Amino acid sequence: MTTVARPVLVVANWKMHTTPLEASDLAVAIAAATSDDAIGRVICPPFVALAAVAAAVAGTGVEVGAQNVHDRPFGAHTGEISAPMLRGLASWCIVGHSERRRDQAETDDVIGRKLERCLESGLRPILCVGERLAEREAGLAEVTVRDQLKGASSALTGKGELGQAGLVVAYEPVWAIGTGRTARGVDAAVMAEAIRDALDALGWPDAAAIPVLYGGSVTSSTMAEFIAEPSIDGALVGGASLKVDEMAGIVARAALTARARVAQDPVG
Ligand code: PEP
Repeated sequence: MTTVARPVLVVANWKMHTTPLEASDLAVAIAAATSDDAIGRVICPPFVALAAVAAAVAGTGVEVGAQNVHDRPFGAHTGEISAPMLRGLASWCIVGHSERRRDQAETDDVIGRKLERCLESGLRPILCVGERLAEREAGLAEVTVRDQLKGASSALTGKGELGQAGLVVAYEPVWAIGTGRTARGVDAAVMAEAIRDALDALGWPDAAAIPVLYGGSVTSSTMAEFIAEPSIDGALVGGASLKVDEMAGIVARAALTARARVAQDPVG
């Protein structure tokens, strides 16, 4: 794999927070406080707030993502949302978040089909992978993440579609999500490299160009440690993304690094 400049991205995952009205107000405030074209900014509100947030951020450069999508394009699945339904509302979609793997028992197969659905509908997937604490302590962090990537890639492998997926991966150690405990930047960087190596081995074209974000209790104070690592291209932010000041600090820190990277490697 050759080294390439990758875009820097900050993705806000609002989880099950905000009514449509609250989401609209928060999105307006965050868009204004983070205005910077050096990086990509994505807000992923609850489904019911997608339309409100899309309207609120129109013209600001902030993009909108869904937090999930069903693994079938349509059918008798009461209460579910399919990828075609998201057209016009979202351009990104989080897939395989550990809270869904845990709460909805989502398997890598299901997650792979969700990637396929995203691809069919032009949604850019943000695929979440990460090990549990016991797996890290047993020295199985890389193996766990490799298996998750393999399982999730299986729906696309052999169909010549991998290169068109516009994939972003979020490395999110499960023990760091919502716990206030973060991985060390150096450890997350090792995992980001392992993720690109694994994607390359799985046949993803141009794996070196796939952005890998870190996620797990990122705040404006901890962002620097992660974005300082050249293999990490931004953050997936949960709790702190509901606070305007925190988002302003996170985006400002990420944008600083994005500019420095472009200055070092202007042609990419
Ligand atoms: C997440 O929801 O993906 C996440 C990383 O949450 P938090 O930042 O709250 O740990």
